[in-house]
Amino acid sequence: MRILASGGEKEKTMNQDCIFCRIVRGEIPSTKVYEDDSFLAFRDIRPAAPVHLLVIPKKHIDRLSAAEDGDADLLGKFLPVIRHVAREQELEFYRLIINDGAGAGQTVFHLHAHILSGTRLSEKLL
Ligand code: 5GP
Ligand code: ZN
Repeated sequence: MRILASGGEKEKTMNQDCIFCRIVRGEIPSTKVYEDDSFLAFRDIRPAAPVHLLVIPKKHIDRLSAAEDGDADLLGKFLPVIRHVAREQELEFYRLIINDGAGAGQTVFHLHAHILSGTRLSEKLL
């Protein structure tokens, strides 16, 4: 179910049951490494690499392919935020993954990018 939550000066569309929306609202604890008005980055609860960060827009978007034309500005800020987070974390290299859809391995349907680093990454997949 979608609700309109009043978020100060601007209203944000949030999904009441979404795990990542609940993290944004502080209802589920997370280890945050970056936050601004529109984005949040935190450590993955089941890290697949020594460094495994998730970067999400605070706005609920189910998956990248569900983004709309009106999200273009937000999406345009996504990569610069990821770059900023990686710099702040002093990552020398990293792999960026966005799973779009269950067939691609997406399990949480709130757009997110995985940043994987901290060890030499397998070349098996990409
Ligand atoms: P996906 O498979 O959808 O691309 O990635 C979802 C990721 O979210 C998984 O790597 C999973 O470990 C992580 N995750 C799921 N629930 C939580 C949670 O409550 N807290 C945190 N920090 N990560 C979560
Ligand atoms: Zn959400």
